[in-house]
Amino acid sequence: MPAPETAAIKCSITPTFASGDAKVGVIEHLMAAVSGAGIDDLLVTLDGPEPPILDGDALSYFKLLEQAGTRAQSGPKHAIKVTRTVAVTIKDASITLSPADAAEYSYDLDYSNTKAIGRQSYTVPFTRDSFAREIAPARTFGFMHELEMLNKMGLGRGASLQNTLAIEGDTVINKDLMRFPDEFVRHKILDAIGDMALAGAPLIARFHGVKSGHATNNAVLRALFADPANYMTIDLA
Ligand SMILES: [Zn+2]
Repeated sequence: MPAPETAAIKCSITPTFASGDAKVGVIEHLMAAVSGAGIDDLLVTLDGPEPPILDGDALSYFKLLEQAGTRAQSGPKHAIKVTRTVAVTIKDASITLSPADAAEYSYDLDYSNTKAIGRQSYTVPFTRDSFAREIAPARTFGFMHELEMLNKMGLGRGASLQNTLAIEGDTVINKDLMRFPDEFVRHKILDAIGDMALAGAPLIARFHGVKSGHATNNAVLRALFADPANYMTIDLA
């Protein structure tokens, strides 16, 4: 039986952002690229319900942003510095945001139910170079058995076996697309960077996620901003 054209993408089950009648979903790869490029002022115009998936990564957007170039503005540039550890847990997923001198992401992933992924851990300083080299190329992934359900729900539009790592049993069906042996945990960090960009300014903290996803990412930002003692806004040069 030929493989279906579309693969489920777990990371795309994300809340939509809405204002009036307008809503948009699956923005995390674009937001990660914008954040990784150090851009804090950008107008994005969309004519569809979600940004194109492109290569299922953030590198596609990052390269386009690099090509377009940036222009320095005269206004102040702020960052949000975490001053007190904030932690959230939802079922078996957790995130800790801890005070740090510079942004760093660390993630523990556990898909012990498939040898295609297994357990993976990764830690990376969040700099433009490390993002471009180690995180941005990591493609999204999903399980073939979720395909039918997600297709019925109309999710994961644009995802295909050409841009999404698709897992069936203990195998990555399209292994030739893989760019790293531990691509899955790197992509989870990519998603986390995209979601943390919704803080509204660069976050100076150590992010440590364990089996976390969009719901936990959202919850940790809400927990952070729930108490002004958790953070301070600082001016960047
Ligand atoms: Zn993703």
